[in-house]
Amino acid sequence: MESAESKKIEKVIILGTGPAGFSAGLYTARADLNPLIFTGTQIGGQMALTDRIENYPGFPEGVGGAELVDLFQKNAERFGTRIEYDTATEVDLSSRPFLVKTYSKSFRTQTLIIATGASPNKLNIPGEDEFRGKGVSYCATCDGWFFKDKAVVVVGGGDSALEEGIFLTRYASSVKIIHRRDELRGGAILRNRAFSNSKIEFIWDSVVKEVKGKDVVEKIELENVKTGKQSELSTDGFFVFIGHKPTTDLFQSQLELDEKGYIIVDNRMRTNIPGVFAAGEACDALFRQVVTSAGMGAAAAIETTHFLESESL
Ligand code: NAP
Repeated sequence: MESAESKKIEKVIILGTGPAGFSAGLYTARADLNPLIFTGTQIGGQMALTDRIENYPGFPEGVGGAELVDLFQKNAERFGTRIEYDTATEVDLSSRPFLVKTYSKSFRTQTLIIATGASPNKLNIPGEDEFRGKGVSYCATCDGWFFKDKAVVVVGGGDSALEEGIFLTRYASSVKIIHRRDELRGGAILRNRAFSNSKIEFIWDSVVKEVKGKDVVEKIELENVKTGKQSELSTDGFFVFIGHKPTTDLFQSQLELDEKGYIIVDNRMRTNIPGVFAAGEACDALFRQVVTSAGMGAAAAIETTHFLESESL
Protein backbone atom coordinates (compact mmCIF):
# COMPACT_ATOMS: atom_id res chain seq x y z
CA MET A 1 0.00 0.00 0.00
CA GLU A 2 1.32 3.46 -0.88
CA SER A 3 1.69 5.39 2.35
CA ALA A 4 -0.04 8.74 2.86
CA GLU A 5 2.60 11.46 2.99
CA SER A 6 2.25 14.36 5.37
CA LYS A 7 3.06 17.68 3.64
CA LYS A 8 4.23 19.11 6.92
CA ILE A 9 7.92 19.08 7.76
CA GLU A 10 8.45 18.31 11.45
CA LYS A 11 11.23 20.03 13.37
CA VAL A 12 12.07 16.86 15.24
CA ILE A 13 10.90 13.26 15.19
CA ILE A 14 11.91 10.94 18.02
CA LEU A 15 11.88 7.17 17.59
CA GLY A 16 11.21 5.26 20.81
CA THR A 17 9.54 5.82 24.15
CA GLY A 18 11.98 4.42 26.66
CA PRO A 19 13.66 6.81 29.11
CA ALA A 20 15.81 8.30 26.30
CA GLY A 21 12.86 8.93 23.97
CA PHE A 22 10.54 10.47 26.57
CA SER A 23 13.32 12.57 28.01
CA ALA A 24 14.21 13.84 24.50
CA GLY A 25 10.49 14.59 24.04
CA LEU A 26 10.34 16.57 27.27
CA TYR A 27 13.41 18.67 26.44
CA THR A 28 12.55 19.34 22.79
CA ALA A 29 8.97 20.22 23.76
CA ARG A 30 10.24 22.72 26.33
CA ALA A 31 12.48 24.16 23.58
CA ASP A 32 9.31 24.77 21.50
CA LEU A 33 10.20 22.23 18.81
CA ASN A 34 6.75 20.56 18.96
CA PRO A 35 8.28 17.03 18.90
CA LEU A 36 6.55 13.97 17.46
CA ILE A 37 7.43 10.65 19.11
CA PHE A 38 6.78 7.21 17.67
CA THR A 39 6.15 4.70 20.45
CA GLY A 40 7.47 1.61 18.68
CA THR A 41 5.94 -1.75 19.55
CA GLN A 42 6.33 -1.38 23.32
CA ILE A 43 5.56 1.99 24.88
CA GLY A 44 8.12 2.59 27.63
CA GLY A 45 10.49 0.01 26.15
CA GLN A 46 12.27 -2.25 28.62
CA MET A 47 11.31 0.07 31.48
CA ALA A 48 7.68 -1.00 31.03
CA LEU A 49 8.67 -4.65 31.41
CA THR A 50 10.57 -4.09 34.66
CA ASP A 51 8.72 -4.82 37.87
CA ARG A 52 10.43 -2.29 40.16
CA ILE A 53 13.14 0.26 39.53
CA GLU A 54 15.12 1.02 42.66
CA ASN A 55 17.98 3.06 41.25
CA TYR A 56 16.24 5.93 39.50
CA PRO A 57 17.00 8.96 41.67
CA GLY A 58 14.08 10.66 43.39
CA PHE A 59 12.24 7.48 44.31
CA PRO A 60 13.74 6.35 47.64
CA GLU A 61 11.22 3.50 47.94
CA GLY A 62 11.62 2.47 44.28
CA VAL A 63 8.97 2.86 41.58
CA GLY A 64 7.08 0.39 39.39
CA GLY A 65 8.40 0.26 35.81
CA ALA A 66 4.93 0.82 34.31
CA GLU A 67 4.31 3.69 36.74
CA LEU A 68 7.58 5.38 35.76
CA VAL A 69 6.65 5.05 32.05
CA ASP A 70 3.35 6.75 32.80
CA LEU A 71 5.09 9.57 34.69
CA PHE A 72 7.65 10.06 31.87
CA GLN A 73 4.83 10.19 29.33
CA LYS A 74 2.73 12.69 31.32
CA ASN A 75 5.79 14.86 31.86
CA ALA A 76 6.60 14.93 28.13
CA GLU A 77 2.96 15.50 27.11
CA ARG A 78 2.51 18.33 29.60
CA PHE A 79 4.80 20.47 27.43
CA GLY A 80 3.17 19.46 24.16
CA THR A 81 5.02 16.33 22.99
CA ARG A 82 2.82 14.54 20.46
CA ILE A 83 2.75 10.75 20.67
CA GLU A 84 2.07 8.57 17.63
CA TYR A 85 1.25 4.96 18.54
CA ASP A 86 3.12 3.58 15.59
CA THR A 87 6.45 2.07 14.56
CA ALA A 88 8.92 3.39 11.98
CA THR A 89 9.40 0.77 9.27
CA GLU A 90 11.79 2.68 7.01
CA VAL A 91 13.94 5.80 7.15
CA ASP A 92 15.77 7.68 4.43
CA LEU A 93 18.59 9.75 5.88
CA SER A 94 20.31 10.44 2.55
CA SER A 95 19.03 14.03 2.34
CA ARG A 96 17.15 16.51 4.48
CA PRO A 97 14.36 16.73 5.36
CA PHE A 98 14.72 13.09 6.44
CA LEU A 99 11.96 10.63 5.59
CA VAL A 100 10.36 8.41 8.25
CA LYS A 101 7.81 5.84 7.10
CA THR A 102 5.41 3.76 9.20
CA TYR A 103 3.09 1.02 7.91
CA SER A 104 0.53 3.58 6.72
CA LYS A 105 2.10 7.05 6.70
CA SER A 106 5.22 8.99 5.75
CA PHE A 107 6.67 11.90 7.64
CA ARG A 108 9.41 14.42 6.88
CA THR A 109 11.58 15.93 9.55
CA GLN A 110 14.46 18.36 9.85
CA THR A 111 16.08 16.37 12.64
CA LEU A 112 15.80 12.85 14.03
CA ILE A 113 16.55 11.50 17.51
CA ILE A 114 16.92 7.73 17.55
CA ALA A 115 16.02 6.18 20.90
CA THR A 116 14.95 2.75 19.71
CA GLY A 117 16.61 0.88 22.60
CA ALA A 118 17.47 -2.78 22.60
CA SER A 119 15.77 -6.17 22.68
CA PRO A 120 16.67 -9.39 24.52
CA ASN A 121 19.28 -11.74 23.07
CA LYS A 122 18.26 -15.28 22.32
CA LEU A 123 20.25 -18.44 22.96
CA ASN A 124 19.48 -19.77 19.47
CA ILE A 125 19.13 -23.37 20.62
CA PRO A 126 16.67 -26.02 19.41
CA GLY A 127 13.23 -25.63 20.99
CA GLU A 128 13.71 -21.97 21.98
CA ASP A 129 11.56 -20.55 19.19
CA GLU A 130 9.19 -23.51 19.09
CA PHE A 131 8.21 -23.07 22.76
CA ARG A 132 8.22 -19.27 22.88
CA GLY A 133 5.03 -18.33 24.73
CA LYS A 134 4.63 -22.00 25.72
CA GLY A 135 7.10 -21.86 28.59
CA VAL A 136 9.96 -19.93 26.97
CA SER A 137 9.98 -16.25 27.96
CA TYR A 138 12.24 -13.18 27.98
CA CYS A 139 10.14 -11.17 30.45
CA ALA A 140 9.45 -12.22 34.04
CA THR A 141 7.17 -9.23 34.69
CA CYS A 142 5.01 -10.19 31.71
CA ASP A 143 4.89 -13.95 32.19
CA GLY A 144 5.84 -14.74 35.82
CA TRP A 145 2.23 -15.00 36.91
CA PHE A 146 1.68 -18.01 34.61
CA PHE A 147 4.18 -20.00 36.67
CA LYS A 148 2.44 -19.93 40.03
CA ASP A 149 3.69 -22.87 42.13
CA LYS A 150 5.69 -24.18 39.18
CA ALA A 151 9.38 -24.85 38.69
CA VAL A 152 11.26 -22.45 36.42
CA VAL A 153 14.83 -22.00 35.23
CA VAL A 154 16.59 -18.76 34.38
CA VAL A 155 19.61 -18.56 32.07
CA GLY A 156 22.23 -15.84 32.65
CA GLY A 157 24.58 -14.50 35.30
CA GLY A 158 24.12 -10.71 35.00
CA ASP A 159 21.94 -8.25 36.90
CA SER A 160 18.93 -9.03 34.71
CA ALA A 161 19.06 -12.78 35.42
CA LEU A 162 19.37 -12.12 39.15
CA GLU A 163 16.71 -9.44 39.32
CA GLU A 164 14.25 -11.39 37.21
CA GLY A 165 15.06 -14.62 39.04
CA ILE A 166 14.30 -12.95 42.37
CA PHE A 167 11.07 -11.56 40.93
CA LEU A 168 10.02 -15.02 39.74
CA THR A 169 10.23 -16.39 43.31
CA ARG A 170 7.00 -14.49 44.00
CA TYR A 171 5.17 -17.03 41.88
CA ALA A 172 7.33 -20.05 41.18
CA SER A 173 7.93 -22.87 43.66
CA SER A 174 11.61 -22.97 42.67
CA VAL A 175 13.96 -20.94 40.48
CA LYS A 176 17.16 -22.49 39.18
CA ILE A 177 19.61 -19.97 37.73
CA ILE A 178 21.89 -21.56 35.14
CA HIS A 179 25.13 -19.72 34.47
CA ARG A 180 27.88 -20.67 32.04
CA ARG A 181 30.65 -19.74 34.54
CA ASP A 182 31.16 -20.19 38.29
CA GLU A 183 31.15 -16.46 39.00
CA LEU A 184 28.28 -14.04 38.54
CA ARG A 185 28.53 -10.89 36.46
CA GLY A 186 25.69 -9.23 38.40
CA GLY A 187 26.41 -6.70 41.15
CA ALA A 188 26.72 -7.28 44.91
CA ILE A 189 23.25 -6.19 46.04
CA LEU A 190 21.37 -8.51 43.68
CA ARG A 191 23.92 -11.28 44.17
CA ASN A 192 23.40 -11.23 47.92
CA ARG A 193 19.63 -11.08 47.58
CA ALA A 194 19.68 -14.09 45.26
CA PHE A 195 22.05 -16.10 47.49
CA SER A 196 19.84 -15.53 50.52
CA ASN A 197 16.59 -16.42 48.73
CA SER A 198 15.60 -19.96 49.74
CA LYS A 199 13.72 -20.59 46.47
CA ILE A 200 16.79 -19.87 44.33
CA GLU A 201 19.41 -22.45 43.46
CA PHE A 202 22.38 -21.95 41.12
CA ILE A 203 23.63 -24.38 38.50
CA TRP A 204 27.18 -23.30 37.66
CA ASP A 205 29.42 -23.88 34.63
CA SER A 206 26.49 -25.05 32.57
CA VAL A 207 24.86 -24.27 29.26
CA VAL A 208 21.46 -25.28 27.92
CA LYS A 209 21.66 -27.27 24.70
CA GLU A 210 17.96 -27.81 23.99
CA VAL A 211 14.46 -27.03 25.24
CA LYS A 212 12.16 -30.04 25.04
CA GLY A 213 8.48 -30.82 25.50
CA LYS A 214 5.33 -31.95 23.75
CA ASP A 215 2.95 -28.98 23.66
CA VAL A 216 4.71 -26.87 26.30
CA VAL A 217 8.19 -26.82 27.88
CA GLU A 218 8.77 -29.95 29.97
CA LYS A 219 12.53 -30.25 30.30
CA ILE A 220 15.89 -28.91 29.16
CA GLU A 221 19.13 -30.57 28.19
CA LEU A 222 22.15 -29.25 30.06
CA GLU A 223 25.86 -29.58 29.54
CA ASN A 224 28.53 -28.92 32.14
CA VAL A 225 31.18 -26.94 30.27
CA LYS A 226 33.99 -28.14 32.54
CA THR A 227 33.22 -31.87 32.62
CA GLY A 228 31.26 -32.17 29.36
CA LYS A 229 28.61 -34.14 31.29
CA GLN A 230 25.12 -33.94 29.83
CA SER A 231 21.94 -34.11 31.90
CA GLU A 232 18.23 -33.39 31.71
CA LEU A 233 16.31 -31.13 34.04
CA SER A 234 12.51 -30.99 34.34
CA THR A 235 11.04 -27.50 34.27
CA ASP A 236 7.78 -25.71 33.49
CA GLY A 237 9.29 -22.38 32.55
CA PHE A 238 12.44 -21.29 30.73
CA PHE A 239 13.47 -17.64 31.12
CA VAL A 240 16.43 -16.22 29.19
CA PHE A 241 18.27 -13.07 30.36
CA ILE A 242 21.60 -12.99 28.53
CA GLY A 243 21.93 -9.37 27.49
CA HIS A 244 20.49 -7.31 24.69
CA LYS A 245 20.88 -6.40 21.05
CA PRO A 246 20.38 -2.78 19.95
CA THR A 247 17.30 -2.15 17.79
CA THR A 248 19.16 -0.52 14.93
CA ASP A 249 18.53 -2.73 11.85
CA LEU A 250 16.60 0.15 10.28
CA PHE A 251 19.75 2.29 10.11
CA GLN A 252 22.27 -0.35 9.08
CA SER A 253 23.30 0.93 5.68
CA GLN A 254 22.86 4.61 6.54
CA LEU A 255 24.50 5.30 9.91
CA GLU A 256 27.85 4.23 11.31
CA LEU A 257 27.28 1.32 13.69
CA ASP A 258 29.86 -0.61 15.70
CA GLU A 259 30.44 -4.33 15.22
CA LYS A 260 27.61 -5.17 17.64
CA GLY A 261 25.15 -2.85 15.91
CA TYR A 262 25.25 0.06 18.38
CA ILE A 263 24.98 3.49 16.72
CA ILE A 264 28.27 5.35 16.97
CA VAL A 265 27.81 8.80 18.52
CA ASP A 266 30.22 11.44 19.71
CA ASN A 267 30.06 12.95 23.19
CA ARG A 268 27.28 15.26 21.99
CA MET A 269 25.06 12.36 20.88
CA ARG A 270 25.72 13.21 17.20
CA THR A 271 25.78 10.41 14.63
CA ASN A 272 27.79 10.62 11.40
CA ILE A 273 24.84 12.37 9.69
CA PRO A 274 24.30 16.02 10.69
CA GLY A 275 20.82 16.40 12.15
CA VAL A 276 20.58 12.77 13.29
CA PHE A 277 21.19 12.12 16.99
CA ALA A 278 20.97 8.93 19.06
CA ALA A 279 20.41 8.28 22.77
CA GLY A 280 19.95 5.38 25.19
CA GLU A 281 20.58 1.70 24.52
CA ALA A 282 20.56 2.08 20.73
CA CYS A 283 23.99 3.69 21.15
CA ASP A 284 25.03 2.64 24.67
CA ALA A 285 26.47 -0.80 25.32
CA LEU A 286 28.13 0.26 28.56
CA PHE A 287 25.79 1.89 31.08
CA ARG A 288 22.26 0.79 30.12
CA GLN A 289 20.48 2.37 33.07
CA VAL A 290 17.20 4.26 33.10
CA VAL A 291 19.00 7.30 34.50
CA THR A 292 21.84 7.25 31.94
CA SER A 293 19.44 6.72 29.04
CA ALA A 294 17.24 9.58 30.26
CA GLY A 295 20.37 11.77 30.51
CA MET A 296 21.40 10.88 26.96
CA GLY A 297 17.88 11.71 25.73
CA ALA A 298 18.12 15.15 27.34
CA ALA A 299 21.60 15.70 25.87
CA ALA A 300 20.43 14.67 22.37
CA ALA A 301 17.48 17.07 22.68
CA ILE A 302 19.71 19.97 23.75
CA GLU A 303 22.04 19.27 20.82
CA THR A 304 19.07 19.06 18.42
CA THR A 305 17.89 22.44 19.66
CA HIS A 306 21.36 23.97 19.13
CA PHE A 307 21.59 22.36 15.69
CA LEU A 308 18.29 23.89 14.54
CA GLU A 309 19.13 27.26 16.10
CA SER A 310 22.50 27.36 14.32
CA GLU A 311 20.76 26.79 10.98
CA SER A 312 18.33 29.65 11.45
CA LEU A 313 21.07 32.20 12.22
P1 NAP B 1 24.85 -8.60 30.94
O1 NAP B 1 25.33 -7.81 32.10
O2 NAP B 1 25.51 -8.46 29.63
O3 NAP B 1 24.88 -10.14 31.40
C1 NAP B 1 24.56 -11.15 30.49
C2 NAP B 1 24.75 -12.47 31.17
O4 NAP B 1 24.34 -13.49 30.27
C3 NAP B 1 26.22 -12.74 31.53
O5 NAP B 1 26.28 -13.35 32.78
C4 NAP B 1 26.67 -13.66 30.41
O6 NAP B 1 27.64 -14.60 30.83
C5 NAP B 1 25.40 -14.41 30.07
N1 NAP B 1 25.39 -14.83 28.67
C6 NAP B 1 25.58 -14.07 27.56
N2 NAP B 1 25.44 -14.80 26.45
C7 NAP B 1 25.18 -16.05 26.85
C8 NAP B 1 24.95 -17.27 26.16
N3 NAP B 1 24.93 -17.33 24.82
N4 NAP B 1 24.72 -18.38 26.89
C9 NAP B 1 24.71 -18.33 28.24
N5 NAP B 1 24.91 -17.21 28.97
C10 NAP B 1 25.15 -16.08 28.26
O7 NAP B 1 23.29 -8.34 30.64
P2 NAP B 1 22.10 -7.97 31.65
O8 NAP B 1 22.11 -8.82 32.84
O9 NAP B 1 20.88 -7.93 30.78
O10 NAP B 1 22.44 -6.49 32.10
C11 NAP B 1 22.61 -5.47 31.11
C12 NAP B 1 22.94 -4.14 31.78
O11 NAP B 1 21.81 -3.68 32.51
C13 NAP B 1 24.09 -4.24 32.77
O12 NAP B 1 24.84 -3.07 32.70
C14 NAP B 1 23.39 -4.34 34.10
O13 NAP B 1 24.17 -3.85 35.18
C15 NAP B 1 22.15 -3.47 33.86
N6 NAP B 1 21.05 -3.90 34.74
C16 NAP B 1 20.99 -3.31 35.97
C17 NAP B 1 20.00 -3.68 36.84
C18 NAP B 1 19.95 -3.03 38.19
O14 NAP B 1 20.82 -2.22 38.47
N7 NAP B 1 18.98 -3.34 39.04
C19 NAP B 1 19.06 -4.66 36.50
C20 NAP B 1 19.15 -5.26 35.24
C21 NAP B 1 20.18 -4.87 34.37
P3 NAP B 1 29.13 -14.12 31.22
O15 NAP B 1 29.00 -13.47 32.56
O16 NAP B 1 29.87 -15.39 31.23
O17 NAP B 1 29.54 -13.18 30.13
